[in-house]
Amino acid sequence: MSETIFSKIIKREIPADIVYEDDDLLAFRDINPLAPVHVLVIPKVEIATVNDIQPEQAELIGKMVLAAQHIAKQEGIDEDGYRVAINCNQHGCQEVFHLHLHLMGGKQLRNLAGH
Ligand code: 5GP
Repeated sequence: MSETIFSKIIKREIPADIVYEDDDLLAFRDINPLAPVHVLVIPKVEIATVNDIQPEQAELIGKMVLAAQHIAKQEGIDEDGYRVAINCNQHGCQEVFHLHLHLMGGKQLRNLAGH
């Protein structure tokens, strides 16, 4: 897999507004936020897309969701609610091919039908 901008963020070669880090994960604010809170949670290991997740990485994916839960509480949006989403490939509008979970909240989001 070719290196992405997110690998450079992990290696601190380019800056990011980091809100959470542990041995396996990094989370930082999206550079083009679509909501008052828009954080990306990424694994430090390079996984290109949801299609590339291996069964033995199930715990890692679970940790990504738990990190989103933690950050939502940290950001004070847990009670009002939020969305977690992962885009995959072209039809999913994935632009960066390093697996990432979007955590979005801080306002009333549109439903998936766009209302
Ligand atoms: P995707 O469309 O692949 O699911 O989402 C990629 C996200 O990464 C987009 O929301 C985009 O704004 C964000 N992004 C792209 N480049 C950078 C960057 O250099 N820094 C940060 N913080 N976010 C980025």
